[in-house]
Amino acid sequence: MVTGSVMVSYKSATLTDGFTSERTRKRLVTGLRNKGITDEKVLLAMGSVQRDLFIEDALKSRAYEDTALPIGYRQTISQPFIVALMSQILRSNRDNLGRVLEVGTGSGYQAAVLSGFADQVYTIERIQQLLDAAKLRLAPLGINNISFRHGDGASGWTINAPFDGIILTAAPAVVPTILFDQLAEGGILVAPEGEEQHQTLVYWKKTHGSVRRFESVSVVFVPMVPGIIS
Ligand code: SAH
Repeated sequence: MVTGSVMVSYKSATLTDGFTSERTRKRLVTGLRNKGITDEKVLLAMGSVQRDLFIEDALKSRAYEDTALPIGYRQTISQPFIVALMSQILRSNRDNLGRVLEVGTGSGYQAAVLSGFADQVYTIERIQQLLDAAKLRLAPLGINNISFRHGDGASGWTINAPFDGIILTAAPAVVPTILFDQLAEGGILVAPEGEEQHQTLVYWKKTHGSVRRFESVSVVFVPMVPGIIS
């Protein structure tokens, strides 16, 4: 298909076609399909969020590699496949996903993906500077269904509970029980759980007031840390 890109000058073509082009994102989506992501709503969200916008200039050329990358403060933006897998688990083919709580805003990338298929995203980050940077990145994207909070996500966000989905993007040794209390009936909580380097992606489904645990793949996430940094 002929696109507008043939109309632009050579200089702007090199600026825009490298890592931000629709073609690059389509390639990412094809890679995710090949790795077993089947949820079309998740694939659509993954294909519409420009990951390069969430990555510092020096690493932008690697934005669409399927790998985690540093975002400062010894934190990382998760690997696209894991973002998609956690999203797919969280959605579990539900027609509509209402409120979702994310613990660990980081770059804001996962929140942006979630905003594509959840009614409202509530995201908590313990490091003020990361939270501020994420807000600045997301503001111009016209996404208006994300609420931010500077805090320790271990206690959740009581006033906005219950949540239809809860996603932890930092790994606790054990998921804090208060988060299960904030899960709605039929809700799903997905998290990397375990000690550093030995984590498993686990998820729980709440039915009739109790939760049942399921295991997915082995993962490596930054640890969930108590307290806040202002
Ligand atoms: N979802 C992020 C991934 C960020 S890495 C993204 O898409 O970029 C995990 C993040 O969790 C880090 O920013 C870290 O500061 C944050 N974090 C760790 N422990 C936390 C806690 N107890 N409460 C809130 N955020 C926490």
